[in-house]
Amino acid sequence: MTEYSESDKKIILNAYKGLLRASKHARKTPEDTARIRKAFNVAADAHMSMRRKSGEPYITHPIAVARICAEEIGLGVTSIVCALLHDTVEDTEITLEDIESLFGEKERQIIDGLTKISGVFDFSTSDQAENFRKMILTLPDDVRVIFIKLADRLHNMRTLGSMRRDKQLKIGSETLFLYAPLAHRLGLYGVKTELEDLSLKYKEPEEYQEIETKLAKTKDVRLRFINSFTSPIKKELEKQGLKFSIKGRTKSIFSIWNKIKTKHVSFEEIYDIFAIRIILDTPVSDEKADCWKVYSIVTDYYRPNPDRLRDWITTPRGNGYESLHTTVMSPTGKWVEVQIRTNRMDEVAEKGLAAHWRYKENKGDKGSGFDNWINKIRDLVENNNSETLDFIDDFKLSLYADEIYVFTPKGELKMLPAKATALDFAFDIHSDVGIKCIGAKVNHKLVPLSHQLKSGDQIEIITSNKQIPKEAWLNFVVTSKAKSKIKQSIKEAYNKIAENGKEILQRKLNQLKVKLNDKSIYELVKLYNVKNFPELNYRIAKGKINLSKIKTIVDKGGELNYDLVKVVEPKKEKSTEEIIKTFGGKASETIILGDDSLKQVDYTFAKCCSPIPGDNVFGFITIKDGIKIHRNNCPNATQLMSHYAYRVLKVMWKSQKLKEFSAEIHFTGIDNFGILHSITDLISNSLNINMQSLNIGSNDGIFEGTIKALVHDTAHLDQLISKMKKIEGLNKVTRTS
Ligand code: MN
Repeated sequence: MTEYSESDKKIILNAYKGLLRASKHARKTPEDTARIRKAFNVAADAHMSMRRKSGEPYITHPIAVARICAEEIGLGVTSIVCALLHDTVEDTEITLEDIESLFGEKERQIIDGLTKISGVFDFSTSDQAENFRKMILTLPDDVRVIFIKLADRLHNMRTLGSMRRDKQLKIGSETLFLYAPLAHRLGLYGVKTELEDLSLKYKEPEEYQEIETKLAKTKDVRLRFINSFTSPIKKELEKQGLKFSIKGRTKSIFSIWNKIKTKHVSFEEIYDIFAIRIILDTPVSDEKADCWKVYSIVTDYYRPNPDRLRDWITTPRGNGYESLHTTVMSPTGKWVEVQIRTNRMDEVAEKGLAAHWRYKENKGDKGSGFDNWINKIRDLVENNNSETLDFIDDFKLSLYADEIYVFTPKGELKMLPAKATALDFAFDIHSDVGIKCIGAKVNHKLVPLSHQLKSGDQIEIITSNKQIPKEAWLNFVVTSKAKSKIKQSIKEAYNKIAENGKEILQRKLNQLKVKLNDKSIYELVKLYNVKNFPELNYRIAKGKINLSKIKTIVDKGGELNYDLVKVVEPKKEKSTEEIIKTFGGKASETIILGDDSLKQVDYTFAKCCSPIPGDNVFGFITIKDGIKIHRNNCPNATQLMSHYAYRVLKVMWKSQKLKEFSAEIHFTGIDNFGILHSITDLISNSLNINMQSLNIGSNDGIFEGTIKALVHDTAHLDQLISKMKKIEGLNKVTRTS
């Protein structure tokens, strides 16, 4: 701390004191406090020369991350220490060996994990899918790595204001795409909600602002409703001698925004939807009974909707969530969700698995839901060779899916995502069972493979050795394991058939004395108009190819004469780098739309969002169509930016206002009275174009002239030219170069 300036020292020590206060619960012994102090000193020294974009000393960031870990996620001293050190190995001279000798082996492992996945989360660096895979593989080692990473991201989102606009969009998109779902899966409800709200704030600032203002304006109405709704319940709970608190929770800005977008409702239709939460202060031994007691009191006053009762106490969700939910009718005719839980359950709900583990010892092992999920994901990553991006989408689904609980014939409990089918269950038991599955018995009744399971179902799978996986299966399975196994075995089956076809082809070619090599393969693929060689083989095996056609070519040239046929190399897909190179720029450069010096850049406007000048836009490098310009709020934007950040280009309009530029048009025609009037009328009145100059000369009944006019873009100019061509008497209209 010696070389920090006095004013920096003040800021840093203040932040550090805040961390100590926030970590009070975690510090049990003087040694704990000493470890945090040591980590703070090491990190403060290491980051001494660095500053954040906001201008603050860099060390304020690790302190803030450590504080989030302590205060908002409820993690212990080791995590706090690691959070303080989380950027040291990557950004400073400190090595992993230093960490181990100064702190210990566990700390080294966690920092190692954090350093390894730091590139994983930065999607712009390299292949995102591969990185993602690596990240998941680090998951089971120590979930604290992910918790600290989420705290890191949360602090970065909170301080996103000082970043450049394009960074804000990219980081915001990534957060929405990956971090928020991950927080959800880990049960960090508070973190998830804040991440979503902050992403929205930067991605759609105006819409965010609007909802925020409207929420503030309607606050009183909501409070009054909550008070009148809860007052009879309060009285009754007090009478029964229960200790409790009641909260009314509004929807988050993001979830309101999301509802407005996806359900096409107005703010006014949903602003008053909220949940009433009754939190009991009750010993662990009484919690279930007391929660049901409260349920009974609530439903004495308000009629419940029997379809909306959720008992997450008897069977907690996979992320550890426990609560009793019911939806009741208020006297004003509005459905209100009531959540009943204890302090302990509430902490689990807010802080997720971190809190769950703390209580695990007291309650026996109920937390296997998460371990179970992690194991499945790990299994999937390790045995998966299919399309990686597909896999990420499947994985994302698994982050949000609710679970159902079903049983094997022997009564063993299995957890599956909601909407899982009998076939998903078969694959969950074993890949071979899934592949051979022909049907199932659910609660002793025969059902098809696509039958959707419900919690409590008991399932017996029926298999047959003759079964072959079908493409159509992919339409109804929901688990990533089933999906990837089905795809894999379809591919295997295809290749096997193609292999037979190749043998048939080989025999035919032998007869004709034609060699099978690259050239003949190319000719054959062209002759039969198929995508590739395996497809040709497949079709041969299926009897869909008339092999005698080969002879006609051989006959024509006496043989299959490749030298006479110009062999065109099949077009290879260009790599991104090559594409960028053809555009003569680096991916990090900004493209200015409407800049004449960038004429060689081949860009078009995406059809999905049709940007017009003035929209906030970005460029996306496509494989075949050059650069496509999308609006930042294009429905595809989040996916593109987060999946393929390295193909995203910064794009700006030359001026954010509608720009006009000057164009010169040359024309000739037959000199006749009134033609001049027709031209000026067309330009100024019907097309609203500003004319800068008009020169006309005539010679022997033929006249020619030039017009300088202001147009918005080439399309505008083309429109003008084609309209002019329609004027009677004008016979040549061209743009002068
Ligand atoms: Mn960081």
